[in-house]
Amino acid sequence: ASESGPYDAVIIGGGPGGYVAAIKAAQQGLKTVCIEKRGSLGGTCLNVGCIPSKAMLNNSHIYHQTQHDLKKRGIDVKDVSLNLPQMLKAKEDSVTGLTKGIEVLFKQNKVDYIKGAASFVSPTRIAVQLNDGGETEVEAKNVIIATGSEVTPFPGEGLDIDEEQIVSSTGALALKQVPEKLVVIGGGVIGLEMGSVWSRLGAEVTVVEFLGGIGGVGIDEEIAKQFQRSLTKQGLKFMLNTKVLGAEKKDGKVLLKTEGAKDGKEQTLEADVVLVAIGRRPYTKGLNLEAVGVEVDPRGRIVIDDQFNTSVQNVKCIGDATFGPMLAHKAEEEGIAAVEYIKRGHGHVNYHAIPSVVYTHPEVAWVGKTEQELKAAGVQYKVGKFPFVANSRAKTNVDMEGQVKFLTEKETDRVLGVHIMGPNAGEMIGEAVLAIEYGASAEDIARTCHAHPTLSEAFKEAAMAAYDKPIHF
Ligand code: FAD
Ligand code: NAD
Repeated sequence: ASESGPYDAVIIGGGPGGYVAAIKAAQQGLKTVCIEKRGSLGGTCLNVGCIPSKAMLNNSHIYHQTQHDLKKRGIDVKDVSLNLPQMLKAKEDSVTGLTKGIEVLFKQNKVDYIKGAASFVSPTRIAVQLNDGGETEVEAKNVIIATGSEVTPFPGEGLDIDEEQIVSSTGALALKQVPEKLVVIGGGVIGLEMGSVWSRLGAEVTVVEFLGGIGGVGIDEEIAKQFQRSLTKQGLKFMLNTKVLGAEKKDGKVLLKTEGAKDGKEQTLEADVVLVAIGRRPYTKGLNLEAVGVEVDPRGRIVIDDQFNTSVQNVKCIGDATFGPMLAHKAEEEGIAAVEYIKRGHGHVNYHAIPSVVYTHPEVAWVGKTEQELKAAGVQYKVGKFPFVANSRAKTNVDMEGQVKFLTEKETDRVLGVHIMGPNAGEMIGEAVLAIEYGASAEDIARTCHAHPTLSEAFKEAAMAAYDKPIHF
């Protein structure tokens, strides 16, 4: 039991939602403990998500560029070969450096850290099964649940995840050799990012997607089509409008049965490795929520109000375990806001200004409304576009694929959405998020001086195109 009285804030889960909430709470003077069972901090994002996937994306891109792109830039490199164990080690080093960094931040900020699995005894009492054995209990004035999410298993036959031949993103981040044929089920963010990695390293990659387009929820349809063309040029194959029925293992291969969602045509696909990437679902196992009455919806999400309160007093929930996009930065924003509600009674997350980024090459990034959403809502809007082929920096970098697309309200010129496919789109989208947060108009951006020669001039010129005319296109 806790000897020095109850904690002001007990945070369950040390992912981007939980660890940020814990640091913020301690900074606000709250006596805080974070309980994490994984053995390292950072959650899905740092251990098996954002960070290792970006390490593999970056290094596989450099490898691919070295093979296919350097010669025309005047750089002759001989004997390029892949050292996969070293690439995986570089990924592990990035992960370890960052997860250990959070432990340091906890110490600096005086956050107590208990390694173990938490479960509710009562709304104010949490039992912890310690990783090192034994049990302890802590008393809580406030609890924040930040237990995140897990892979959605494939509902059909023969596709149970073994993380070697039938893998989730976790296994796909650690394959010991490059598969000859990789079939990806799901053309969302994980499918495209991990599909890109293994395609660049030499696998033949086929993405099977149930819907008629790639990129997952929230992508602008026009950008999704360009994105698919770009990835197809890079060698990925796509089977859209296609349902995977099930699979069987035969002679070391996986045979997948698929069915055309529209024409019912059946096909068999052979794969050495199958990546199941059909989404993630909230993870609340072992929390003993039923015993204290925390309400969960039919999709397993913990139900909260607009101040992150669950159905039980002084128990809040943030991040992947509750509603909204499953993104690390969304979980972080909620972590801070939830603590501010505890400390001051008010907090703020603007759900209209949460960016999405797919870290392929080119990157795809967006914020706000898509064109199809504006059409469906009957909003009068304007479109301003600027292609990177007309941007001086993209041209000098010989990296010109894609465009910036602005969507503005016709009457007021207010920025409603920005969609970018192009080099560094993930960094550039920050400017669009700020514009939406501040309620900027396209003219505001167009009249803001942008340095030359930078990619960000494409952003400015797309804004010019939305309210008037661009100069260079
Ligand atoms: P999590 O990060 O899942 O953390 C929850 C933690 O709680 C876990 O460590 C778990 O061990 C712990 N826990 C659970 N139950 C208990 C318990 N009872 N007791 C103690 N501890 C417990 N998002 C982005 O924004 N950008 C990206 O580039 C990106 N890339 C991704 C790539 C992959 C391959 C994957 C899988 C995800 C990616 N995501 C990305 C999504 C991102 O990882 C999640 O949105 C984010 O981690 C959610 O944070 P969270 O704190 O809610 O939960
Ligand atoms: P997703 O929801 O992005 O995509 C899943 C895709 O699978 C969808 O396009 C869906 O139509 C398709 N699908 C579903 N069932 C199918 C079936 N039976 N057959 C064929 N296709 C099917 O999910 P994900 O790619 O698994 O990613 C999970 C979460 O992780 C997402 O919420 C995402 O935001 C997050 N993530 C984010 C990033 C990033 O921000 N860069 C990277 C990776 C993961």
